[in-house]
Amino acid sequence: MDIKIKEIFENVYEIDLEDGVKRIGTKSIVKGKKVYDEKIVKVDDEEYRIWNPHKSKLGAAIIKGLKVMPIKRNSKVLYLGASAGTTPSHVSDIADRGIIYAVEYAPRIMREFLDSCKDRINLIPILGDANKPQEYSNIVEKVDVIYEDVAQPNQAEILIKNAKWFLKKGGYGMIAIKARSIDVTKDPKEIFKEQKEILESNGFKIVDEVDIEPFEKDHIMFVGKWLG
Ligand code: SAM
Repeated sequence: MDIKIKEIFENVYEIDLEDGVKRIGTKSIVKGKKVYDEKIVKVDDEEYRIWNPHKSKLGAAIIKGLKVMPIKRNSKVLYLGASAGTTPSHVSDIADRGIIYAVEYAPRIMREFLDSCKDRINLIPILGDANKPQEYSNIVEKVDVIYEDVAQPNQAEILIKNAKWFLKKGGYGMIAIKARSIDVTKDPKEIFKEQKEILESNGFKIVDEVDIEPFEKDHIMFVGKWLG
């Protein structure tokens, strides 16, 4: 099989397996180890982990045409809502010269996440509540990017709170908003507009937004620049 690989953002690759399916992936920093059931493609001496957009909202946003990708090789990232580590593991491949502080509040899920972190030296697991940034302020430093995927009604407020504690001025917040977590009765478009207004009236300038259907229903990804 002839495999074509093109870097589309720092350490993010479009991977063409010549079957007509658009795929992306990251170059694994831990060769020989899967984090979820991702497919591994070996090219020369490298292993690329195919990024499943059905299992990762960041993957879905990239496939759906994200234009501003603030997570780069050297980035310091605060990741809120790590779950078992699917998306954090790709972020860890991307920021291979950076660091990712990944917060998760469910102890049972944290145990699974610890397994993903084991060999990833740039991924720091933190058992904590994203609503209470002061509780992890002794561990987390100032970061370039905050990525949030917690599916909570007050998710915009959580991002703003954490940005005040940890985000460098001029840094970026990325937030996956799930309309149904906020109000099941309202039109998702109305909810997205309100959430954008909350972010914009509290220090963020929205610089990119991507509807991630059909991978996730009624979800949007906002990228905001922190003006402080
Ligand atoms: N970001 C993950 C990924 O793409 O691989 C999936 C995240 S999942 C949709 C949401 C996670 O946020 C759950 O694991 C949940 O336990 C966690 N969560 C919800 N509220 C939280 C909070 N206040 N603090 C920390 N984690 C929270």
